[in-house]
Amino acid sequence: RPPQDSDEPIRLTDSDAALARLSAVQKHYLADPFIRHFVPRAHLQSARPPLINIGTYVRSESIDWLVNTWIDMSKAEGKKCQIVSLGAGSDTRFWRIAASHRIADVAKYIELDFPEITTKKAMVIRKSKDIGGMLSNITVGSGGTTLHSDVYNLLATDLRHPPSSSLSPPLLNMLDKSLPTLLLFECVLVYMTPSASSSVIQWFVDYFDDSAPLGGIVYEMFGLEDSFGKVMKNNLMMRNVELPGAEPYPTKESLLQRFLAHRFTSAQALTLREIRNAYVPRGELERISHLEMLDEIEELNLVLDHYAITWGFKGQDGDGQWTNWG
Ligand code: SAM
Repeated sequence: RPPQDSDEPIRLTDSDAALARLSAVQKHYLADPFIRHFVPRAHLQSARPPLINIGTYVRSESIDWLVNTWIDMSKAEGKKCQIVSLGAGSDTRFWRIAASHRIADVAKYIELDFPEITTKKAMVIRKSKDIGGMLSNITVGSGGTTLHSDVYNLLATDLRHPPSSSLSPPLLNMLDKSLPTLLLFECVLVYMTPSASSSVIQWFVDYFDDSAPLGGIVYEMFGLEDSFGKVMKNNLMMRNVELPGAEPYPTKESLLQRFLAHRFTSAQALTLREIRNAYVPRGELERISHLEMLDEIEELNLVLDHYAITWGFKGQDGDGQWTNWG
């Protein structure tokens, strides 16, 4: 393989994520009328096992809940917020927000990914009326790798390069330093070294005014050194995916350092198993239990034990937490 292709297995994880989401939608775990636009026609029928669908459901609903809370909390402070999704891939969250009343409280929504991924996404946005029609004043730039509109913006970058060189010019023009800003890292930091992910987070911490609330959400695998974690890690490595970020986070507690090491004032983490057991409403658990047969509850718990959502808040002294959820 030519050296520039060594990241191809990492980029392919985006198709996995999109297909997993589509499967959960087709099996009625989740409602998302937008995801089918981002999946090639040939893959429109590719159901995932029940275990994966349940994991996708818990992850997606939890992150939606945190994002919505962020938007509502900013609104309560009389401010619109900004959302930056790093390694956004084919994520549809912007369109789901755009279809809701909450879009009125979002000043900017920025997605970042490799140029190969942003080019494909920009093409889908331009070609589909359902998707592109929800944006106003679309312009495409940098040879088709970037797309701008009033609220939604898609930028191409390699997050491992120092953000000061690769991200600054376009981001600096768009982000208001004084607004509450939420950073989303959904299944992306595990593909970067700890020092590269640290410098991305630190860049944002340094950029914003200290008085502006900064939030972060990380969804990732952890605990990959225990026996089941090793199986999960081997599965990925068999597909040539390097996991340089996985080692330093053996426990749920260690995940808090993602934020606490960067002057965040609070951080919390929950595994998907904990969320499913304690926070998914009973009615929903009942509803999804009827969607598909799941025989392997032990295996489900083992897998959900190795995925966590961590969320951090950086405010001024006395601002308290973003949410006491958990
Ligand atoms: N966040 C999306 C979601 O949850 O559906 C996509 C997740 S996908 C597993 C990981 C994404 O991160 C891919 O789209 C990949 O291209 C992107 N990514 C990984 N490393 C990156 C890097 N160094 N720079 C830019 N994007 C990266």
